[in-house]
Amino acid sequence: MRFIDDFRNEELVATLALAIKHTMSKPWRIMEVCGGQTHTIVKHGLDQLLPYGLELVHGPGCPVCVTPAEKIDAAIKATSVHGAILCTFGDMMRVPGNTQDLLTAKAHGADVRTIYSPLEALSIARDNPSREVVFFAVGFETTAPANAMTVYRAKSEGLRNFSIISALVLVPPILRTLLDTARCDRVDAGSDNGVDGVLAAGHVCAVMGLREYHRLAESLRLPIVITGFEPVDILQGIFMCVQQLEAHQYRVENQYSRVVSAHGNTIAQRIVAEVFAATEAGWRDLGRVAASGLSLRDGYLDYDAELKLQLTADSLWSSHQRGLCRASAVLTGHIKPPQCSAFAKECTPMRPLGAPMVSSEGACAAYFNYRGGQVDGASQLSDLS
Ligand code: SF4
Repeated sequence: MRFIDDFRNEELVATLALAIKHTMSKPWRIMEVCGGQTHTIVKHGLDQLLPYGLELVHGPGCPVCVTPAEKIDAAIKATSVHGAILCTFGDMMRVPGNTQDLLTAKAHGADVRTIYSPLEALSIARDNPSREVVFFAVGFETTAPANAMTVYRAKSEGLRNFSIISALVLVPPILRTLLDTARCDRVDAGSDNGVDGVLAAGHVCAVMGLREYHRLAESLRLPIVITGFEPVDILQGIFMCVQQLEAHQYRVENQYSRVVSAHGNTIAQRIVAEVFAATEAGWRDLGRVAASGLSLRDGYLDYDAELKLQLTADSLWSSHQRGLCRASAVLTGHIKPPQCSAFAKECTPMRPLGAPMVSSEGACAAYFNYRGGQVDGASQLSDLS
């Protein structure tokens, strides 16, 4: 298959759904990790094509959704206290901090600018030499190389009025924590941790390769299929996962081999390792996880806005509550968004209570935009033979 339409071919999708049905001898529960995959599943109704007993649950793979409120507070403080220009991607504008979001801060006069590439922040810094320019670096392993290159270039140029707030996080540590600590437990699950198999995000593995995932599959004893983002990709990934489960296997398979190689992008890995080191990180609504974030290495600390502007002193992380919002349960696969009592009532994309309703990769936004509140449709294929 060469073109995008091939990966959205309805006949192929139906064939794969039937193949999954004919392979299953018992119920299985599979977590897709990436918010992009969640949106494809909900948008195209893939979960409704699957046979009865095959449940998809959504994981913590939306970078905006897991950015802690304290980082948003720090970004706002950079503008309000220090008069910095804050550069951010548009997705972050309406994610609530502990007191307000960036859009509200901007409405109150903060100099917050939406950009499309971290390199744009460097241009803004060059054009405004008398002002500090702070880039809000949010994302997983996929965005880390561009962020690392931006800091590397700032240092190479001797740019002294540029810095970043790093909210960069890593997928394998949070997966290990979620799947290892029984947070995804379900009483009638097919395995001890309630998630029987995982569809891993293809773009993350395109950068980082498969090494960490081999370790995860081995230690958690569950199949992990590196999967792409189109309907055929996802159903093929599920099929491969179910085949392993039925054969009592747990290994890494690569459905997305047209993009992902075993070793990943070693050039990108080198620039990330040059600039960043793994550190403990806070995950919004999920707590702190060891070695799950990226912070600047010693040689680049002049570009750490939180140190440079002393932004982290008044963290409210541990006491932060958002009342009705059940983002924690959504991000760990305990509930589907419409099972949150605030879904489409107190919480909508226009008035979000939690990050998963804001982000273009958020599960709550996906259900709101594509389902209008329906949790799970009856399987269309369960009666087919
Ligand atoms: S629907 Fe809104 S309130 Fe409920 S979990 Fe999602 S973001 Fe939070």
